[in-house]
Amino acid sequence: MNETIVGIDLGTTYSAIGVVDSGFPMLLADEEGKRIMPSAVWYGVEGAVEVGRKALRRRELDGLRVVTSVKRYIGRELSAEDREVLQDRDPVEISATILRELKRIAEWRLGRSVGKAVITVPAYFHDGQRNATKRAGELAGFEVLRVLNEPTAAALAYGLDKLADKSRVAVYDFGGGTFDLSLLEMQDGVFQVIATHGDTRLGGDDLDHVVAVKMLEKAGIDEMQVSRELMIRWLGEAERVKCALSANERECFSLPFYEGHSSFSHELSRGEFESWIQPWIARTIACCNKALSDAGMLPSSVDALVLVGGSTRIPAVRAAAEACFQRTADVSQHPDEAIALGATIQAGVMSGAMKKLVLLDVTPLSLGIETLGCLMNVLIPRNTTIPCKAGEMFTNAATGQTAMMLRVLQGERELACDNWELGRVEIAFAPMPKGQARIGVQFRIDENGILEVLARDVKSGRDRILQIQHAAVNVSDESVEKMVSDSVEFAFADMSERVWTEARLKADELLPAVDAALEVGAQWLSEEERERILRAATRVREVMPSKQANALKEAVQELDKATESLAAKIVEQAMEQALPGEWENRQG
Ligand code: AMP
Repeated sequence: MNETIVGIDLGTTYSAIGVVDSGFPMLLADEEGKRIMPSAVWYGVEGAVEVGRKALRRRELDGLRVVTSVKRYIGRELSAEDREVLQDRDPVEISATILRELKRIAEWRLGRSVGKAVITVPAYFHDGQRNATKRAGELAGFEVLRVLNEPTAAALAYGLDKLADKSRVAVYDFGGGTFDLSLLEMQDGVFQVIATHGDTRLGGDDLDHVVAVKMLEKAGIDEMQVSRELMIRWLGEAERVKCALSANERECFSLPFYEGHSSFSHELSRGEFESWIQPWIARTIACCNKALSDAGMLPSSVDALVLVGGSTRIPAVRAAAEACFQRTADVSQHPDEAIALGATIQAGVMSGAMKKLVLLDVTPLSLGIETLGCLMNVLIPRNTTIPCKAGEMFTNAATGQTAMMLRVLQGERELACDNWELGRVEIAFAPMPKGQARIGVQFRIDENGILEVLARDVKSGRDRILQIQHAAVNVSDESVEKMVSDSVEFAFADMSERVWTEARLKADELLPAVDAALEVGAQWLSEEERERILRAATRVREVMPSKQANALKEAVQELDKATESLAAKIVEQAMEQALPGEWENRQG
């Protein structure tokens, strides 16, 4: 079974965790059956802590002890006011608490422990914010394998990685606390962010605020006089009404007994709500236009528009984005689950649980070099997650050889000639007896799919490096399929060719050695033993021209066995001769 890697959307207002199971990405629901969890933490007195929906429920009565939107603070300088909101806690620690709860949910659902994760961050996050997010993951007990851009995750969730090279995708992400527009371009099978514009102080929370303020006005309450606790209750109801108006034309804002005997209720229409929020929608569109002009692109050159974030459920928001990019948006995924789903897909690709997406982050075919006998020697097997590294030590096949030509190969076949050659690199070394040169070969593929082949003569430390752009990772689906199906079709013939070549190489080595041993060690052999060796050697010589792989392999094995005790005797004798000499040397 593949190791489990989870995908996590650590969002400003909501977070979610998922895993690829039986080839399908799915988000993991908590005990209440909810797949998204509020990014909220309640810190009670005496160290009590609650996370998610339970923390949010405390907001009504104990709002000051509930921390939300911690993502706004992670990895940044904090002001005194920020510290107050965070109750003097480190945003990394608060985020870790949220991640720990997601980990608990995943482990409870899956019934096993999970240790590795992919976590998403906004495309505009700087290094400090990315590192802080990674640290939060580690603090929660995860090994964070990748910090993935949210728009890339969204595009993966919509399956847009299957678009042609150079396709462009606009990801309009309007969540609870932030707005981002990212323009992505598919390059060599991987999305690159080509422009991003956002507003870290613009989100669904602002829309709740608009509704709450309008309702306070209607109730004749001065906003400045409202306590923080009371405001939290008005905001809670405002959010409920806002969400309801995405589906219904009318909804009643209602707060019975919000203070003593005072109650308030007022019916709102969708039209009214949408007219109030126009300035906020206009700000998102301004970001879109800025990103387009940064990228030097016209709206018409975008190939797909993807909407993510809960606030894109508002019909007026969706209409504005579609008008800006002059196309209908793909809304086939839940807008508030798309990022977590994309993170999960990425995690699935990395764990090997989603084999179909081979182009993205794994080697589609095996990589190796040609070795003696024209065989393929695999260093990085197919479907290895990149980045990756592998190495092996090789030696000279002939005495006096002064260089080794390494052919870098890609493919699944046993014989070098049936695989594809990606490049060659030659490494020189001082002439030496056969088998004594030491040439280290290392393959390294970075996250961009660039393969670097390093060959080093261990004795002199001399290096040769060959770089192969993308060819190692960027292979068309059809060629991969053909190579794999050929390797299956010819598996039998290929394997027998390998067995034969290996046996022949062994025979080439063994036969002259046996002849020499028979001369040196004749005195230790019984007639019977001598005959067994001669018979075995003759058998090897007979079978060699026949090209029968298994017969040759068996003959070589028999010869090896027949000479076992003779070889041991010769070695023993050599040691005896060497040791007294050494003894004398030491004495002297
Ligand atoms: P996100 O951060 O992507 O999870 O988005 C959360 C934001 O989306 C919050 O401000 C929610 O109030 C808002 N939201 C969720 N569902 C809806 C809806 N049906 N209509 C309007 N806003 C929504």
